[in-house]
Amino acid sequence: TQSKPLLSESLTGEQISELDAKHVWHPYSSFNSPLLPFPVESTEGVRIRLKDGRELIDGMASWWSAVHGYGHPVLKQAAHDQIETMSHVMFGGLTHEPAVTLCEKLVKLSPDGLNKVFICDSGSVSVEVAMKMAFQYALSQGNRERNKLLTVRSGYHGDTFATMATCDPVNGMHHMFENILPKHIFAEAPPCKFEEAFSESHIQDLKDKLVQHQQEVAAIILEPIVQGAGGMRFYSPDYLKRVRELCDEYDVLLIADEIATGFGRTGKMFACEHAGITPDILCVGKALTGGFMSLAATLCTDKVAKGICEGEAGVFMHGPTFMANPLACSVANASLDLLMSGEWQQQVANIESGLKIGLGPAKALSQVEDVRVLGAIGVIELHEPVDMPTVQPQFVQEGVWVRPFGRLVYVLPPFVIENEDLAHLTKAMVSVVSRL
Ligand code: PMP
Repeated sequence: TQSKPLLSESLTGEQISELDAKHVWHPYSSFNSPLLPFPVESTEGVRIRLKDGRELIDGMASWWSAVHGYGHPVLKQAAHDQIETMSHVMFGGLTHEPAVTLCEKLVKLSPDGLNKVFICDSGSVSVEVAMKMAFQYALSQGNRERNKLLTVRSGYHGDTFATMATCDPVNGMHHMFENILPKHIFAEAPPCKFEEAFSESHIQDLKDKLVQHQQEVAAIILEPIVQGAGGMRFYSPDYLKRVRELCDEYDVLLIADEIATGFGRTGKMFACEHAGITPDILCVGKALTGGFMSLAATLCTDKVAKGICEGEAGVFMHGPTFMANPLACSVANASLDLLMSGEWQQQVANIESGLKIGLGPAKALSQVEDVRVLGAIGVIELHEPVDMPTVQPQFVQEGVWVRPFGRLVYVLPPFVIENEDLAHLTKAMVSVVSRL
């Protein structure tokens, strides 16, 4: 006998919306919002197909992650093959091929010197792990008073409590928690100019804070080259080089949060490569599985690992239940194999020039403060925040999926987007912005 289909298989778009409005939280959402999420039927390549039959060109790669587009056959095959043998097994006391090959690949791909890998479930956890590594390392060196992080404004590192405490406390999303969060140290943000010649004055505030708080600081944490959710700001590689030098000079670890920028998005495999630096700790996530499923990792140098293992605990004190999920690791292996074939470099270069040409006309619009492009990232910064209930349906009307926030209308398309679709996407952005 045939089993009864799952209820969700037979729901119409209207029924999905109704249940959604009744029960379901979305990211940064309110049950009082007049804007309901659009029910999706399926995704393929660079297309998001809505329940009502409309097809949208995806400009968001599901928040930086779907770099190969949706439903890539190689990733699908990896998931199918892996599920036949083992979808999950605990990682305490056991190990497996998908995890060890993934770690080996990550070590090979990342800046030289990052040899130890902690695999975890999400970007925020990866940052929490990085913080814990830095604090455990400080303890191992007898630096008990080093219980703070130094970071820059306009940064973003996640929505969990430890990570929120390093997001911009003034311009950011979390001010309501200000009195609850641990207090870290914030320096001025680097100037938002990738090409701008570096001047020592750009880093003076960070340097001053480092000198003042050296005895309390376990690590400097920042997003290399691109500050994402804190403003989609691009800054000079020379700034990052100086941060590395200062960390060495003042004996403080450097944590690079490459959750958004990692795996080719900025035109380099890792954004740190723009500056030719190796951080002490590196966080990756998002595009690690090509956006197929949740997986992240934290890499560290032998020095950090040795310190932690020789410290008072003798172990690194973290162990998520779904650590190194074999299914996710297999998909990540397949995704990294695709990246290692090298095709992404031409694709990203092509997107960069397409974005520059396509978004160029926005510079002349009175609503627009700045237009910037780096790798496969295109940003239109407006003078005023957009009204989402008005703007979101306009993008859908134009046949594209663009999800602005605040004053930023930005795209991060899958690397496989064709020129014609990219031109459609940028034209739609300029068109919607011109009508604001
Ligand atoms: N760090 C950065 C730089 C990010 O962009 C994000 C996600 N937007 C995170 C951390 C948190 O990752 P996740 O949403 O997977 O927890």
